[in-house]
Amino acid sequence: MGEPASVAERRRDDWPIPWFEVPDWRGRYGVVAGVTGRGSAEHPFDLGLAGSAPIGAVLDRWRAVQRAFPGFEGTVVARQVHGRVVLWHDRRQGWTIFEGADGHATSTAGLLLAVSLADCVPIFVVDPVRRAVALLHSGWRGTAAGILESGIGELTSRGSHPENLAVHAGVGICGACYQVGPEVAAACGAPAVGSDPVLLDLRLAIARQAREQGVGTISVSAWCSAHDHGSFMSHRASGGRDGRMVALLGLVP
Ligand SMILES: [Zn+2]
Repeated sequence: MGEPASVAERRRDDWPIPWFEVPDWRGRYGVVAGVTGRGSAEHPFDLGLAGSAPIGAVLDRWRAVQRAFPGFEGTVVARQVHGRVVLWHDRRQGWTIFEGADGHATSTAGLLLAVSLADCVPIFVVDPVRRAVALLHSGWRGTAAGILESGIGELTSRGSHPENLAVHAGVGICGACYQVGPEVAAACGAPAVGSDPVLLDLRLAIARQAREQGVGTISVSAWCSAHDHGSFMSHRASGGRDGRMVALLGLVP
């Protein structure tokens, strides 16, 4: 039981949008998996639907995201509430915004699952045997609430076996950059002593949960949204001024 593998998403300079892909997953699992980047300093690739950016420009960028993955005929996203609700999707048609959920799951190829982020961790779950995927938004509240357990449950209730699953905790804030109160660390199952602030490595907490669930393959991103702020959106590193990037996961048709 060592540390989970550290894997850096690969920047794709050949892509029409700022895009960092989980290496090898396309070839190994037949999925699109990755996270959008920050974009240029003058033109941040802000996909935040509830932020301060003009909504017309935000919608144009979402359309660019859809066009960047030919063969995908639908995208689902939700207004996120830091809970543990995961929605199952069977339809791949158009672009749909759901209300009040922090995860999506499907076995339908050609549907892109999306979660929006700026320090919270995107959790990618793939079952290459049953050809099913789940994508989860997991900040400390979601981690404490058990969003990963909920997402894995969506897959196992449809026949997936945990040992066949690959879980990647993607680009988010790292353990050196995320200072929290001891009650927050404790809620995520991390060690905390006394009342002093502590550094919380959310992705290690998530990897620990994945191991407890019996997941066969576990990795964590080598990137940090905060100290790699030049490449990603970070709520903390920007003092709340940044917009949102999105993680995407889908079964290639
Ligand atoms: Zn960091």
